[in-house]
Amino acid sequence: MKTFFISHPDCALHRAPSGHPECPERLAAIDDQLIASGIEPWLRHREAPLVTREQLLRVHDAEYIDALEAGIPEPGHWATLDGGDTYVGEHSLKAAQRAAGGVVLGVDLVMAHSTHTAFCSVRPPGHHAGRDYGMGFCLFNNVAVGAAHALEAHGLSRVALVDFDVHHGNGTEDIFRGDARVLFCSSFQHPFYPNTGADTRSDNILNLPLPRDTDGAALRSVMEERCLPALEAFRPELIMVSAGFDGHLEDDMANFRLVEADYEWLTGELYDIAKRHCDGRLVSVLEGGYALSALGRSVVAHIKVLAES
Ligand SMILES: [Zn+2]
Repeated sequence: MKTFFISHPDCALHRAPSGHPECPERLAAIDDQLIASGIEPWLRHREAPLVTREQLLRVHDAEYIDALEAGIPEPGHWATLDGGDTYVGEHSLKAAQRAAGGVVLGVDLVMAHSTHTAFCSVRPPGHHAGRDYGMGFCLFNNVAVGAAHALEAHGLSRVALVDFDVHHGNGTEDIFRGDARVLFCSSFQHPFYPNTGADTRSDNILNLPLPRDTDGAALRSVMEERCLPALEAFRPELIMVSAGFDGHLEDDMANFRLVEADYEWLTGELYDIAKRHCDGRLVSVLEGGYALSALGRSVVAHIKVLAES
């Protein structure tokens, strides 16, 4: 199979207080559904390395990284980053370092193996983390760290980032707004958390705010009219995906009405563009998705397309 599956046991050690939706069981639900689907043994499993400080500094300010490292609490205690529900516990830094490092490895693997794809089954998620802040359950911006690695370490000049999480990827926009090497396309429920993105004016940002109750047909038409043509015109050398599955019908975090077949369709469209423009190179990174069964089933649908199985 041509899909690398990147994760690490440390990603399950990051825990918020009991009952928080961004929980370690999310990764277990993905593993369970992959096993049930029969494709798990065929994936090319790799362990996520720790991200390096140099890799983080491409997208985050040193002061933010230092503050995060200095703010790790004692065992059994939590700090919060945004004064809300973005928790940092004793193992959170290591989990975040594995999550970002896993995406760097994903980029290295698909750059070394043309026609291959990678899925990074990592947490905490990343797309709300900006250059000097964490928020929305996100500490480091994993997909941004990977995209910057593709640009700086592999010398690429055009990386497309597609974010289909139900929330706007405000952190990714913060990091790459005005950077012509990156095309960032984010579809999201609006108005809704984090209430950004609807008014952005930047040549390299394509934001697609959509109303509550958006279903698969509505998502498909906006993708076909706006996102997919922009990706074709951009001619990416690598496609990266912020793959959030919290727009699923069964996910009560938000109010979209998507199902597995919609994620399957969109993944197929993105992969077709990757095959036309970048030898099939695509790195997908887990973001949200909190209804455990729907998350696992949706990730399986997504990976089956990427693995052409
Ligand atoms: Zn989300």
